[in-house]
Amino acid sequence: MAYMITEECIMCGSCEAECPNEAISEGDDTYVIDPTKCTECVGFFDTQQCYEVCPVEAPAPDPNHKETREQLIAKFKSLHPGKEPKL
Ligand code: SF4
Ligand code: SF4
Repeated sequence: MAYMITEECIMCGSCEAECPNEAISEGDDTYVIDPTKCTECVGFFDTQQCYEVCPVEAPAPDPNHKETREQLIAKFKSLHPGKEPKL
């Protein structure tokens, strides 16, 4: 399941550089996550880095982008050709 950033976001920008997939960018009212790039950090980390650094717990699972772990690993591989996921 990709993550999304809720309206709690105070636009501090801390999460942007922490995303291993460069999925986060500045939006109009909140930072936003590109669901085609978010792997829930699968392949890189055990926890969601955007959520870990966020001071207001704004990142959350996106119910509109439910994916299995296998699908997230496949997304990781398509985003990072030739790189092996850390499991
Ligand atoms: S969960 Fe991980 S991959 Fe997804 S947006 Fe947050 S930091 Fe990026
Ligand atoms: S770390 Fe949290 S508050 Fe800061 S930009 Fe990211 S989602 Fe918004």
